Amino acid sequence: MQWIDELSVKKCVDRKAAFDAMKAVFQAMDANHAQSFPVVREAIGHADALFGFKPGFDRDSMTLGVKAGGYWPNNHQRNLANHQSTILLFNPDTGQCEAVVAGNEITALRTAAAAAVSIHALAPAKSKVLGIIGAGHQSAYQLEAALDTLPFEQVLGWNHRSGRMRHLQAIAEQHNVPFVETDLTHLGAESDCIITITSSFSPVLLDSHVVGPTHIAAMGTDTVGKQELEASLVARANCFAELPVQSAQLGECQHAVSQGDLAVGDIQCIGGVLSGRLSGRHGGEVTLFDGSGVGLQDIALARAALRA
Ligand code: NAD
Repeated sequence: MQWIDELSVKKCVDRKAAFDAMKAVFQAMDANHAQSFPVVREAIGHADALFGFKPGFDRDSMTLGVKAGGYWPNNHQRNLANHQSTILLFNPDTGQCEAVVAGNEITALRTAAAAAVSIHALAPAKSKVLGIIGAGHQSAYQLEAALDTLPFEQVLGWNHRSGRMRHLQAIAEQHNVPFVETDLTHLGAESDCIITITSSFSPVLLDSHVVGPTHIAAMGTDTVGKQELEASLVARANCFAELPVQSAQLGECQHAVSQGDLAVGDIQCIGGVLSGRLSGRHGGEVTLFDGSGVGLQDIALARAALRA
């Protein structure tokens, strides 16, 4: 059995590996070759922690595994990330555990790659301006992956506490792309693609902010109750997700669905666009990728790390 720690994960997989792994697993999910099994997520009654499991099996890559971990809100006092996870990979023929893979870097890389894959598939033609909303731990990964994907000429940033985007400015400038911190009205009107990566529980980006053909990768909402986009913006968008049923339950689409303005059948699999089964963007509309995250993404990248 292999043990791959966080340092080794960083040596074994990179943004390109994550992008390729997400493309493959999303297509396998759309073709019903990859299946997520029921998720467990419970308060453990200690340290305010939420702990759970996200299992899945991908027949295309013969990857069987589970992501175990959760959220420890007081970890920052110990100088540790609040999200902690570990991935177990099993031999699908025998059930033997093949590897224990540290999951923190993998989670960050695969979440950023998922948004990048959606930008690659759904961005308006000749996109030049990228908007990013949020400046926490995950935001740097999101920006790097998006800047790899298309030749953006400007990045517009917004965070609900201003003046905390210097790390994002540095990343944009490393890519020779100017970065401007701005307000949501300007960001929404000017951006061709927008990534939202906040832990907000109320709408941040409003329907009126978003003007013209735009692709939004909404990545922050992964729990019942969280919300980054006004529900009417979601309802008017051409919606895609890695797993539409989950998106309707706990992703960004949950609010438009619960208000009756969107049906789960209106949300399409991003994997279908990648395989050519679905048409993707029609023209000048708003497209939305509601990336709420599934364990299959983690085990896919863990498998790539093990192979490397
Ligand atoms: P973080 O705590 O480091 O950063 C949170 C960000 O949200 C900060 O920029 C903060 O200013 C902003 N924020 C907090 N409350 C806000 C509010 N009310 N309005 C606007 N902005 C607000 O978290 P992170 O690690 O960067 O993760 C961001 C979000 O992404 C979290 O909700 C996390 O659960 C989620 N996440 C999703 C996936 C997925 O697969 N979709 C994967 C990893 C993380």
